[in-house]
Amino acid sequence: MSNQSKSGKGTESVWAGELKAFHDGSHTVPIVNSVTFAYNDLDEWYEVAKGEREGHIYSRNTNPTVQVLEEKIRILEGAEAATSFSSGMAGISNTLFALLKPGSRVVSIKDSYGGTSRLFLEFLPAYNIKVILCETDDHEQMEREIAEGCDLVYLESPTNPTLKVIDLERIAKAAKKAGAVTVVDNTFASPINQNPIELGADLVIHSATKYLGGHSDTLCGLVCGSKSLIHKIFLYREINGASLHPETAYNVIRGMKTLELRVNRQNNNAMAIARFLSDHPKVEQVYYPGLEKHPGHDIAKRQMHGFGGILSFELKGGYESVKTLLHNLKYVHLAASLGSVSTLAGPPRTTSHVELSEEQRRQLGISESLIRYSAGIENAEDLIADLEQGLGLI
Ligand SMILES: *Cc1c(COP(=O)(O)O)cnc(C)c1O
Repeated sequence: MSNQSKSGKGTESVWAGELKAFHDGSHTVPIVNSVTFAYNDLDEWYEVAKGEREGHIYSRNTNPTVQVLEEKIRILEGAEAATSFSSGMAGISNTLFALLKPGSRVVSIKDSYGGTSRLFLEFLPAYNIKVILCETDDHEQMEREIAEGCDLVYLESPTNPTLKVIDLERIAKAAKKAGAVTVVDNTFASPINQNPIELGADLVIHSATKYLGGHSDTLCGLVCGSKSLIHKIFLYREINGASLHPETAYNVIRGMKTLELRVNRQNNNAMAIARFLSDHPKVEQVYYPGLEKHPGHDIAKRQMHGFGGILSFELKGGYESVKTLLHNLKYVHLAASLGSVSTLAGPPRTTSHVELSEEQRRQLGISESLIRYSAGIENAEDLIADLEQGLGLI
């Protein structure tokens, strides 16, 4: 485990990785756009190249700006080490390809992010890697499958789009017993709301495209964990080449300075909106782990510091009602993605789960009247008033 002293998450969001002033007293992180790094002394160059001395050789491998971002997420997640990628999916696929080999067995869940599901269903089986997808909230099934032999357990919590909650501590314990590595995609929660390493996970993955960047203007992936696992993943990425550009790293660093402010606001907005929708006659069902009636509420209360900024809800009146509401909202962009300062919403049947059949969606509990709503940092009163007028038109 890391041994840094524990500051508040707001303080860490601002200062982690940036305590000392940079070149020439620069107060902000310099964007080092150099691909290669020059040495005056061949012996020094040789030592850096051999990994015996700190320094940079080539930016596909390491870069000073990118390194600050990796340090920031490392501290926020309480990990020993971190590495970075050009997108969240690059982080996920590099992690899986670095750690798995033909004959490996993976246990995961049905409600994974769409891109991750495609890795599990299309790409990994081509390398003779067996993937078992369990019912997302069936902890007993996961424990049974893990006990049958498992190299890697891959989890997400809360999940997309119905915000199912997995007891991460319980499943990580089962994985440890089986000698498997536990990987948690923590994108939905962000490090402000949940820290899977504290709950026993070995690796934490973020699509920093979402809450960490926070402004929907940057693709980035980050992975944290033990020194040895991160080194293995880093060596694979070095050659695979899915490296993060320093300009992009800077955008994410800047975004992360307000991470705690944004996420706390989004937690409060989502909770207020979930309560408002729960009482509305045009709304059939609300999915939000902060609601006492949500099936995962007790686990979420135990393992999360906040319930997150994403909720989903079903309207009465089917897809026609979805169209009426979404076409008449003022403070929402109808778009994929989540975790931005501005509110984003859309029907999973059009966005994250467009490739599934109606029947497959039904099996995942995704009805055509379901809307996913990622609350931004606007004032809750305005978002609620907007929803109220839109629902009034149904
Ligand atoms: C968006 C997302 C990803 C993929 O991230 P990209 O940055 O778009 O590649 C992975 N997992 C979750 C939970 C996501 O929401």
